[in-house]
Formats: sequence, C-alpha cells, structure tokens
Amino acid sequence: MAEATNFIEQIIEADLAEGKVSAIKTRFPPEPNGYLHIGHAKSMFVNFSAAGRYGGSCNLFFDDTNPSKEKTEFVDAIRKDIAWLGYKWDKEVYASDFFDTIYEYAERLIREGKAFVCDLSADEIRETRGTLTEPGKESPYRNRTPEENLTLFREMRAGKYADGEKCLRAKIDMASPNINLRDPVIYRILRAEHHRTGNKWCVYPMYDYAHPICDYLQGVSHSLCTLEFEDHRPLYDWVGITLGFAPKPRQIEFARLNLTNLVMSKRYLKKLVEDKSVHGWDDPRMPTLAGLRNRGIPAEAIRDFCARAGVAKANSECEIGYFEAVVRDYLNAHAPRAMAVVDPLKLTITNYEGEENVEFDVNQTDPEAGKREILFGNTLYIEKSDFSLDPPPKYHRLKIGGYARLKNAYIVRCDEAVTDKNGEVTEIKCTYFPDSRSGNDTSGIKAKGVLHWVNAATCVDAELRQYEHLLKDADYAGQDFSERMNLDSEHIFSAKAEPFLAQAQEGEAFQLMRTGYYKKCTENGKLILSEIVSLKDNFNK
Ligand code: ATP
Ligand code: MG
Repeated sequence: MAEATNFIEQIIEADLAEGKVSAIKTRFPPEPNGYLHIGHAKSMFVNFSAAGRYGGSCNLFFDDTNPSKEKTEFVDAIRKDIAWLGYKWDKEVYASDFFDTIYEYAERLIREGKAFVCDLSADEIRETRGTLTEPGKESPYRNRTPEENLTLFREMRAGKYADGEKCLRAKIDMASPNINLRDPVIYRILRAEHHRTGNKWCVYPMYDYAHPICDYLQGVSHSLCTLEFEDHRPLYDWVGITLGFAPKPRQIEFARLNLTNLVMSKRYLKKLVEDKSVHGWDDPRMPTLAGLRNRGIPAEAIRDFCARAGVAKANSECEIGYFEAVVRDYLNAHAPRAMAVVDPLKLTITNYEGEENVEFDVNQTDPEAGKREILFGNTLYIEKSDFSLDPPPKYHRLKIGGYARLKNAYIVRCDEAVTDKNGEVTEIKCTYFPDSRSGNDTSGIKAKGVLHWVNAATCVDAELRQYEHLLKDADYAGQDFSERMNLDSEHIFSAKAEPFLAQAQEGEAFQLMRTGYYKKCTENGKLILSEIVSLKDNFNK
C-alpha cells in the first residue's frame, strides 16, 4: 500500500486496514460564489492526493445550496481553474442534483419526529440559542405533531409562506454543549432563482444538513474540510446516523492555508475587484488561481508548494517568501534566460566595426536546453546603474578608465562619458579588446564586473511591470485588511529588450538575468514583460 504522507492519509490507511471502508472516495466542494484561490489549491491537493494514493477518485462537487450568491459564470471559472492546475475529477456533481432526495429525507425526519416546522424569526432563533455557558430555550413550536409538521413543510414548499416566515429545524438538544446541535435550522424559505433549478424551489436546505447527505449519495468515504467545520462534525454525524447511512462518510478537518501578505477571503477579494483597486479577479497580484495563472506562475509550482507546505491539524500562517522560493526554484530550472535593460544607457564601442554572434546558454542549469546566439555590435544599451561618474571604492561596474566584461562578449574600457546640460550622462564611449572574447580570453585583463546588455540596432521597446504584495507587512498585523492594503503595488517601467522576446510564445516565462522572472505577453502590439517573481530570495530557509 502507498505510504501515508500526512495525518489524513494515516486515518484513511487505518480505515482500510480495519475494513471500515473498501474504496476511497473524496470530493472537492467549492461553492460557486466566486473564484478559486490558492487556499482552494491546497484543498484540491489534499482531496485529490488522498484519493489518488489509495486507488480511489475525487469528485468535483459544487455546493450550490445558496442560490442568491451562486452563478454559472463561477462554475465555469472553477472548472477551468481546476483543469489548469492539472487535477482530473471523476464525476461532476451538484448539491442541486440531490434537492429532491434531500427534501425526501427531510419529510422522513419529520415523520420520525426528528424535525419540526418553527415559526420563530431568524433573530428569535439566534436569541434563544443560548451561549457557550448557557443552554438554549426550546422553541414553542417544538412539540408540533409529525402530521402538522408535514402539512406545514409541504405548504412551505408549495410557496404558501413568505421568506423567513417559517423554517424547518432538526429536533436534537437545546442543552447540548455544542451550539450546532441546538435544533439547527435545516431548511429555509428563500425565493431566489437558482442557477440550475431556476424557480422550481422556494425552500433550500442548509449546508450542514445537505452536505452529509450529498457526501453519502456520492459514495464519499472521507469528507475532508477545513478546521472551522470541526464543531459542525457532531451535526454531520447526527444527520448520517439518524438517516441510517451505511457506510457513513467520515469527516476529517485540516488547517486552512494562510499566506502572509495575501488576503484569501473571497469577501475582500471581491471588494478589491469592485473598488477597482485591482484590474479584476485575474489581476496578477490576486491570490486567485486566475490571478496566479495570469501572473505566469506555473501550475506545477503551485502543486509542489501545496505538497511541501504539508497538511496540518492547527492553523498557522505560511510566509509568502516560502511560496515565492518554490516558484523561483521551478522557474530557475525551467525558464530560458534573456536580457532586458530597464533604465538604458547608450554604450558605444569606438573601435568595433560590424557585428557578430555571441553564444548564451538558454538555461545554464539545464545543459539540454542548449545554446542561443545573440547579435553583438558597436552600439549597445546597458543599465544606467552599471556606470558611475563618481564611483564608491571597490566599484566593479564601469567608471571612467575602468574595465568590465559585456556578458558573453568582450571586455571594454570606458574612456568618456557624454553628459547633457543638466550633467546627466547620456552615453558612454568605450574601447573593446579583441582578444578578450568570452570562452577565448587571452587578453590578461582583469575585469570583475559582468554587465548585461542589449544591442541598440536590434532591441525592441518593452513595458516592464513589477508588483509588490497586496497586503503590507506583518507590523500591521491585527489591523483590518482594508487598512493593510498596499494599493500602490504595481510599478511600470520602460525597457529595451532582446528582439527574440518579441517573437517568443505568449505567456512564456523568462529569467531576465538581472531582474527576475518575467512573463512575456503582448498588449496592443507592445511587448510587455510582467514580473512573476523577483530574483532575490528574501526567504530564510
Ligand atoms: P472563502 O472563505 O475564501 O470564501 P470558502 O471556504 O467559503 O472560502 P468554498 O468554496 O466553500 O470557499 O471552499 C471549497 C473548499 O475549499 C472547502 O472545503 C474549504 O474548506 C476549502 N478551502 C477554502 N479556503 C481554504 C484555504 N485557505 N485552505 C485550505 N482549504 C480551503
Ligand atoms: Mg464556504
């Protein structure tokens, strides 16, 4: 048998060993009320790997019991995001597929005296629910007969009552130490058009009641969810036991994935989109899967991150730097190298004529990626910050009279700087040494600095976009998310880039050798280089 990699898989193994279950079935249960985010990737990882490891399968289960917030648009986006991440679900199932059966089960609970129609308002129910230290008060409607309850429930379904006028409650125990067992509401009246069942229903089951039924009807063996449902497990079990489910699905809770410097809650993400603080759900700064995809983060890196972050029983916050380090590792191994100069300074080689190709490794960490040729000439651009008129001690880049190597080409000496009327350097003039060519350097000249460059004759203009995190650092912890928002988090620069970037495939990731990992795309005919992750590793492993 496969080796368990976390506590959930250990439980599954024990259940298999004891013969409690024979086949493993899980489900990933998004509510189609928004876009998936990286926390959902974690949930998918847990559900799909637990099933896959033991020869089982995982359903895509849309938890659509709340029609007022759910939309087909979200269903489509969720499907697309899961497929992009690389997970293959077994059946696609909706809670609404089971509305008839869920309703039948409610009638059965009524007939067996285990549910009653209650006329208290939502506020009254809340007020009589009691507290952690005090029991709740029984509803005056609790002792209606099954016949009366059945008639009222059927009238609820037939549309006789207004929204909220009545509800159906499970009859459990108003003195239970677990508040979720104090006669929880299991059906409510709600007139809202459902994205799949239209106006067929005006009563909808509550999540805590519907979920165990849907799990059972799908043949789910292990219902994996996050820790906030731990207190709901007694109700999950009550439904399964009372309705006689065999085998009864087993709920196991694990910790949510939280990342520093990112908001994960749909409510805030929605606000950012609505306020136009970001460009949309797929803004590259968003933690949504659509945003991460648009940012250029490879699906493999997200899956790898979820695997490495582990599955825990207690909530904690994961450093965003750890996620970035995993992405960087992946791109370091896979992304071709390229050159782009952000703040360009013209460099003219006064003694060089003509042009020639110089060779670069496509990716020096991957010998199989091969070599690539770049055209070298006498007019180049280097970074403005690679030249100084007034250099500090031990300055290894270019200064008047100083030497540096142009990457994979020649050593040059800077002879002269041309300045404009404000004293700004606009061009530097250099001499090159023909016998200093990379790979065949017999010049004997020592040049510590290696500068990246682009050829002015062939380079293309590009827009470079860099991003900061959406949430400011932890010194703001404890403050509301809205006060921690880093709204000035997108920065745009103009750059000169190697021409082959303009020819590259849309969406391809590159390492700009000096700056970081960037995704290539084209907008209105313009080359855009959009930051995936910086080069610098700020994360302390
Ligand atoms: P949000 O609070 O962001 O709206 P949600 O829990 O309401 O998220 P659902 O669509 O109900 O979103 O979630 C589908 C599944 O994904 C659930 O099982 C939920 O527990 C799980 N999930 C949601 N957020 C995370 C997270 N940050 N880490 C791990 N699992 C998560
Ligand atoms: Mg939810």
